[in-house]
Amino acid sequence: MKIVAHLDMDAFFTSVEEKEKPYLKGLPLVVGSDPIGGKGRGVVSTSNYLAREYGIYSAMPIREAWRRSEYAKIKGRPSVIFITPESRRYSEASFEVEKIIGEFIPKYEKASIDEFYLDLSFCESFEESKELCLELQSEILKRQKLSSTIGIGKNKLIAKIASDYKKPFGFTAVEESRSAEFLSPMSISVLPGIGPKTKTIMENFLLFKVRDIQLAKPENLQKILKNRWKSIRDMAYGESSSEISTEEVVLSMGEQETFLVDIDKQKEIMSRVILIADRVFERFRKSAFVSFRTVVLIVRFSDFKSHTRSVTLKAVMRGKDELRRQILKLVLPFLDKRDNPGSKSVRLLGVRIEKLS
Ligand SMILES: [Mg+2]
Repeated sequence: MKIVAHLDMDAFFTSVEEKEKPYLKGLPLVVGSDPIGGKGRGVVSTSNYLAREYGIYSAMPIREAWRRSEYAKIKGRPSVIFITPESRRYSEASFEVEKIIGEFIPKYEKASIDEFYLDLSFCESFEESKELCLELQSEILKRQKLSSTIGIGKNKLIAKIASDYKKPFGFTAVEESRSAEFLSPMSISVLPGIGPKTKTIMENFLLFKVRDIQLAKPENLQKILKNRWKSIRDMAYGESSSEISTEEVVLSMGEQETFLVDIDKQKEIMSRVILIADRVFERFRKSAFVSFRTVVLIVRFSDFKSHTRSVTLKAVMRGKDELRRQILKLVLPFLDKRDNPGSKSVRLLGVRIEKLS
């Protein structure tokens, strides 16, 4: 029997902060870039549930989060504590969680730093898979003092939607025969691939709920959704062919920085990107990895257009100078007409190393 679970850590970055700094407990927290008194740039990575009560969510501009915190303060509520992310500590916590998962589940996929798909097909029954997941959830809470939410279903699609269904410390199990029924009252936007644009188009044709897709005539869906109609209708019935992949997760390490003021001087762009590369190298040096083969550069211009460039070498790289050299090679075209014909200034720079071993 095919059974899949999706395990999602609750407000992961802020939970790690609360766990390691108990004096933060009970306060609204935001992990993200420095708000600099409302002038900061960049975004919220994670907000804890108290900060969400202020309307602060992931990906919100940090200055908007600051504004909402100030408003709460005026209303006599505690203001938000803003914390700069320390990715190394979050990766370590993630690794500890993964170790516990490995004790329970022989086959799983790490989908991100705080999300895992678990293959529960080895369980004798659906009931047994539920018990196992409840056990795992309380073991992570007990040993790591971190709460998680689990969704169970017949495939990754259902499991993911089930884990989104009730948070935090939620547990939702959808039996195979109830998949379509589970999805039917939900908004069409729970289905992956239905972004704001597709959603608007579909709503214009009165498709608001998954049920509306289930009940629509195929020929109408075809007219509205063109060649995507069949895959969207399959998803509406809970069908998906995406499999759990135990292939090694792409191991990478990176840092990025949004500047307080956009930078445009060639010299400054070069020295900033070197500083970021050095920080990445520092993390790499302290890690268990000894070499990397890919170097990635991310450039975001003042108009928010982002560009990614990467280089993969046949031979492994180990040294700081090699990383600096490769990153400078990647950044050079952005300093002149080749990749920056309009001489736009730079808002963000990022450096990542991949193919670590
Ligand atoms: Mg999460």
